[in-house]
Amino acid sequence: MSSETNLMYVDGHWVEADSGKHFEVKNPANGEVVGTAPSGGWAEARRAVVAAARAFPAWAALPAKERCNLLLHVGYEMQARKEQLARLVTLEEGKPLAEAEAEVLYAAEFLTWSAEEAKRVPGEMIPASVANKRILVLRQPIGVVAAITPWNFPFAMITRKIGPALAAGCTVVVKPAEQTPLSAMALFRLFEEAGFPAGAVNLVTGDPAEIGKEFLSNPQVRKLSFTGSTEVGKLLMRGAAEQVKRLSLELGGHAPFIVFEDADLDRAVDGLVACKFRNAGQTCICANRVFVQEPVFNAFSAKLADKVRLLKVGNGLEPGVQLGPLIDEPALAKVRAHVDDAVRKGAKALCGGRPRLDGDFGKGHFFEPTVLTNVNTEMKIAVEETFGPVAPLIPFRSEEEVLAKANNTPYGLAAYFYTRDASRLFRVMEKLEYGIVGANDPAPAVPQAPFGGYKESGLGREGGRYALEEYVEIKNVSIAI
Ligand code: ADP
Repeated sequence: MSSETNLMYVDGHWVEADSGKHFEVKNPANGEVVGTAPSGGWAEARRAVVAAARAFPAWAALPAKERCNLLLHVGYEMQARKEQLARLVTLEEGKPLAEAEAEVLYAAEFLTWSAEEAKRVPGEMIPASVANKRILVLRQPIGVVAAITPWNFPFAMITRKIGPALAAGCTVVVKPAEQTPLSAMALFRLFEEAGFPAGAVNLVTGDPAEIGKEFLSNPQVRKLSFTGSTEVGKLLMRGAAEQVKRLSLELGGHAPFIVFEDADLDRAVDGLVACKFRNAGQTCICANRVFVQEPVFNAFSAKLADKVRLLKVGNGLEPGVQLGPLIDEPALAKVRAHVDDAVRKGAKALCGGRPRLDGDFGKGHFFEPTVLTNVNTEMKIAVEETFGPVAPLIPFRSEEEVLAKANNTPYGLAAYFYTRDASRLFRVMEKLEYGIVGANDPAPAVPQAPFGGYKESGLGREGGRYALEEYVEIKNVSIAI
């Protein structure tokens, strides 16, 4: 990939950073440089915001049907070019090609779904209390939206934000993660090809803190949508207070995965493998704590270890690979620290437990798929998000006990449970303090459903019709006639 094409997209032009400097993007499977991106900062971000603000009135005034058609165009192009786009994801993010392709299709659907929903942002007329008044409620696009996205889903985390924002009539400035700007650039080429007006969609890459500060301090940015760590989310929330800037935050999780004694164990094992080891455990809705009821604990852990042991680890571009590398060295170090701490405190690895350093694996950031037993709440792994391919198993006795343990965390993004008892299904579903619950289902995140967390896992919802609500202001117009 040549560096000339690796540029930012501002006001309808592909541009370098003012400094002319770039940063490197490395393949996490082998450390090779796969491309570069401009090292932009506050000045480039400001220009992008100005362009987005200039483009806003015309974009907002465009009939929803036309916004819809433009978004559909990009969504369909993503589908048509899924192999090429998926390759890019695997190269810079590391997930196996089949997962990358699934991500591209998932990402495309945020555009097509939002496109159709653009036509359904209605107002309302409310009966007044007196005869000579009429009350109208308008839903109007907020204005310029800044989006800061993470590396774990380089396409989907962008389209999940800008699909509904553009559909609602907002213009956008995106700052992708430093690890994965190349997918973002490929996406913005499709926006350009589709004929989006200059300034409606902008992409800036570079210094996160500087760009973030500009987004927060620039009054032309009316809304900030962020997905990433709780730490950075809190920092942005503090910064947003100054201008009472609208915020959507999708932060960390610490998902419980509960297996009741009446569960279909094979289904629960398959569900856990899918939910825990997808993207090498690097999703914010990954199972982080696996609670298994005592009577089935041994049977479940044996079945699970048998499956996990067989997962093929390697470079995601190779056929048959099911588990790619972690994104970078700090990610690998964190997983290692969590497992070492647990083992030191008495946990036992039924399989895995170490980084893969043999042969070519040593050039990347690979960790063996791991199942731990004898886990207790003194261990880091039981209280912090691991973001890696490690399943810590914790036994429990009663429904009441496990619900208390599952909810005993400041996080509240996703939770999973397996049962065949219909009454329990309702009881547990209602008591879990989580924004997303998978009941016998390891894959609850789909474009038409709301995605977001309780407690410190965030603010607002993405996905479905709920997403568009995040990008409109509501205006009460009281008319005396
Ligand atoms: P992770 O630990 O998963 O990389 P981060 O929260 O650090 O999560 O990153 C998510 C996104 O937030 C990335 O696009 C990153 O560049 C951005 N980011 C990191 N630090 C800041 C900051 N101080 N201000 C604004 N954005 C930031």
